[in-house]
Order: sequence, then structure tokens, then C-alpha cells
Amino acid sequence: MRNHGIGSWPARRARRSPDRVALLHRDRPVTYRELHERVLRAANGLRTLGVRGGDRVAYLGGNHPAFLETLFACGLLGAVFVPLNTRLAGPELAHVLTDSGSSVLVHAPGHAQVVAGLRTGTPVRRFVALEAARPAAGDTGYEELLAAPPEPVDLPVGHQDPCLIMYTSGTTGRPKGAVLTHGNVVWNCMNLLVDLDLGSDGVSLVHAPLFHAAALNLICLPTLLKGGKVLLEDGFDPRRALELIERERVDFVFAVPTMHEATAAAPGWATADLSSLRIVLSGGAPAADRTVRAYLDRGLPFVQGYGMTESSPCATVLEPERAAAKAGSVGAVNFFSDLRVAGPDPAGAAGAADGEQGELLLEGPNVMAGYWGDPDATDAVLSGGWLRTGDVGVRDGDGCVRIVDRLKNMIISGGENIYPAEVENVLHGHPAVAECAVFGVPDPKWGESGHAAVVLRPGARADGPELLEFLRGRLAGYKVPRAVRFLPALPRNALGKLLRHRLAELP
Ligand code: ATP
Ligand code: MG
Repeated sequence: MRNHGIGSWPARRARRSPDRVALLHRDRPVTYRELHERVLRAANGLRTLGVRGGDRVAYLGGNHPAFLETLFACGLLGAVFVPLNTRLAGPELAHVLTDSGSSVLVHAPGHAQVVAGLRTGTPVRRFVALEAARPAAGDTGYEELLAAPPEPVDLPVGHQDPCLIMYTSGTTGRPKGAVLTHGNVVWNCMNLLVDLDLGSDGVSLVHAPLFHAAALNLICLPTLLKGGKVLLEDGFDPRRALELIERERVDFVFAVPTMHEATAAAPGWATADLSSLRIVLSGGAPAADRTVRAYLDRGLPFVQGYGMTESSPCATVLEPERAAAKAGSVGAVNFFSDLRVAGPDPAGAAGAADGEQGELLLEGPNVMAGYWGDPDATDAVLSGGWLRTGDVGVRDGDGCVRIVDRLKNMIISGGENIYPAEVENVLHGHPAVAECAVFGVPDPKWGESGHAAVVLRPGARADGPELLEFLRGRLAGYKVPRAVRFLPALPRNALGKLLRHRLAELP
């Protein structure tokens, strides 16, 4: 095979474990043999639509086998797959399609209205409709695409070729298109196979959205590389998650902290048989201590990983064997990557000592090639092979990292640095607090001061002074917010990430 990228994986798996189940979607199993055949058909179908090496093919839809089939088919053709965030509004999607120069859009039902608005003003020339009984005039139905013959496709695709343009979550600004090469994705999977010791008999629950790097590259692709089974769920329902874990004997689950919290609060949590779980992985945002404890207290191996779209996405992960001993940390840097904690002089070569805080810098074969079409933004974060993560962390003597917060979140009040994550973690410990966020507000005297937004648990009562008093006993005075405001919900994006800048903009 001349294809050394991920597009060749279904063929390689079909030759080793054709009869094993690769995907279980809506209770329908897809074996590796079937997956291989469907990927070949999709690749030949895309070819008849004019897709060639280097072209961009976008996908708008939830977790569905077609997402993975299109991804692998693009990989066979040397085309670049652009997964779209289904929660984006029409103009935001149009921006991503234009920015990436996507010429084909595969879209799932449920997005018809938004897709209608993308027919003009974007570079998309071909629309492929998934599960449509009758696609719109001029469009191709996905099953029609798959009517193409499963003829072998063996084009030369190497590790340096782009595989994906993945857009960042847009937590701190406009999403940026990280170009992940086949090599980036392969090495990210290698890091996980080594550090998490994934087995070929693994069963993974993928209920976080595949358009995000974590769900796709952290759990789904490593499982398929090993020949395990992926339970592909479109959407998150904590009760169904618990049922599936018990019924299918799931051993690996990944979710963002808000999903893990909801699962631990769901009816059925106390009685479900979760004994098959070997890895309960959390990432994408900090997990509160109380979330970590809810799992560890049940004897479940809850571990955090840390990373970002730009690192494909894994940078560090805690091995399940150290889940309890290193609770709260995100573990050590992945096997094939390197991490530095920048010292007090960011330009200096000397890194921070163990126990000292600094910006995390990452190097390795999983670090992106750059931002698509944006050399200035690329230069701002990549220099000499090192990626500036924009996150502050601290490493202990065992190499384990604790994430302090994003540099951008830091509040400077009267010359003191306040990291919201630390204050939020303490505030989460108050029994009346369901969710909270701390953010900076301009202050004539202090430059900036911290304020807290709080969502109370249903039926719980607490007022501002009581919560501030709770914090005063537990934090240095300058870290205690000046004021508390109560909200019905916090502004979050598709992945449940807090949109902190929106809080400061509230009237
Ligand atoms: P944008 O770059 O568009 O503002 P984003 O940084 O949220 O959005 P992602 O690449 O999805 O986009 O997220 C990566 C970021 O998520 C990291 O830089 C870090 O701030 C945060 N993060 C990831 N994992 C963890 C973790 N385990 N603990 C704390 N923060 C985490
Ligand atoms: Mg980011």
C-alpha cells in the first residue's frame, strides 16, 4: 500500500480482523470488512464528484458512520476532511467553509435550513445529503454516493500530507483552523496506545461530538486503530450512557467534565454495573475536585488528559494506575512528545523548576503543521517546533502536570495574579452551588477585580455575602471576588466550555 495515512486503516484492519465489529450505531453493527467496503465506495463516489488530492471536503452532522467513512475516504484520496461544529450559526459555518475553501459539503438531516443558506456565498459546489429520501435537485444522496464500486484506491499519501482541518472551540475568540497532518493523527494515536495501554478487545463509548478533536482523535480513532469496538452515539443522554456501559461492557469512556458530572448525577448512577470501566477519561476543560471524587469514591479510574486541537489533541494523560495517587493532575507528557514549563523569563532558555508555574510549551510529532492559510497566527504560537499552549501549568517531581488556567483568563488585581479556576474550584465546594465562573471586570482602583457568576442547585438557597464568606475562610483575601451575581445558566459552547468573555459583557 502506498497510503501511509489514516485512510488506509480500514483496509489494514479488514485484512487482520474483518469480522470484528468496528462500529455499533443505533444498535446496528458495522464490521471492519463492511467499513472497508463502504469507505472504498465513498472514496470512488467522491472521486466521481471531482474530489482530488488536496481538496477540502466538509462534514456537517452528528456522530454517524458516514462521518468516519467520509473521513477515511478523504484519507484514501489525499483530500482534507473538515468537520463542522453542528452548533454554529449559518454565518459562522459560511466563514469556516470559506476559510477552508471546502468544495464539497456532506450534511445530515436536521440542517436543511442552514444548508440552504450555504448554497451561495461559499466555495461549496457539491452537496451530499445523508439519509435524505429525496435529495434536493442537483444534490447527491449519500447512498447514491455509496453506489460507486468498491474498487481499490491506492494513491500515495504520506505522513506530511494534511488529513484534517479542525477548528478550535472558539472559547477565546474566532475558531482557528488547525491543520493536522496524517502523521499528527497517527502519532497522537500512538501516544494514546502507549500511555493508556488500549487493548484490541476494547469497547469505547463515543458520545461526545466527533467534530471535536477529543472525541475523534482521543477515543474513536485509537480504538479503531487497535481493532476495538466503537459505540457511536449521536448526542449525550446520561441515563443511556449508564445503560450502554453496563450492557456493552464498555471499558473506555471519554467526556468533558460537564458530561461526567451529569452522568454521576443521573438516576441509575448508584445501581448501574460500571465494573467494566478501565479508563474514564476527562478533558477539554478543568474537572472540579468534586467530579473527580464522585468517580474515585466509587472505585472508578477517573483520569484527566490535557491538550488542545493544535496538538491533535493529546499533550498529557494520567495513566489509570495513578488515578487516585495523582487525582487532580492531568498526568505526564505523552510518550512521543515533550513538554516545557516556561520560566519567569519567557525568552530565556531556562524552564521553570518543578513546583513553579509557567506557560506550557509542547513539542512532538502530534503538534499541528499550522493554522490554515494564516502564517501570522501560526508564527504567534509555533516557534522552533514548540507550541505555545496559552495555558499555565506546574509540574511536580514525578513529571505530573497540574493545569492552573489559561493565561487569557488571568485577572490582575492590584498587581496580584488571580486564576479563576482556583477560585471556582473552591466555590464548587459550597453545597448550594451547581455551576460558577469567575471573571475580571475593570476596576478604577485595582485595575481589574474578580466577580463571580453562580448558578444555584435547584431548590438551594444562598446569597452573595454567604458565598463570599465561604471563600474568605478558604482563599487569600485578594482572590475573593468583589461581587456575586446569580444566573439561571452559564454561557457555554457546544462542548460545554464556558464562554467567559460573555460574562463580563452581561448588562
Ligand atoms: P480557542 O482556542 O478557539 O479559544 P479552545 O482553546 O477552548 O478554543 P480547544 O482546542 O478545544 O479549543 O481546547 C483546548 C484548551 O482547553 C486548552 O488550551 C486548555 O485551555 C483547555 N483544556 C483542555 N484540557 C484541559 C484540562 N484537562 N484541564 C484544564 N483545561 C483543559
Ligand atoms: Mg485554544
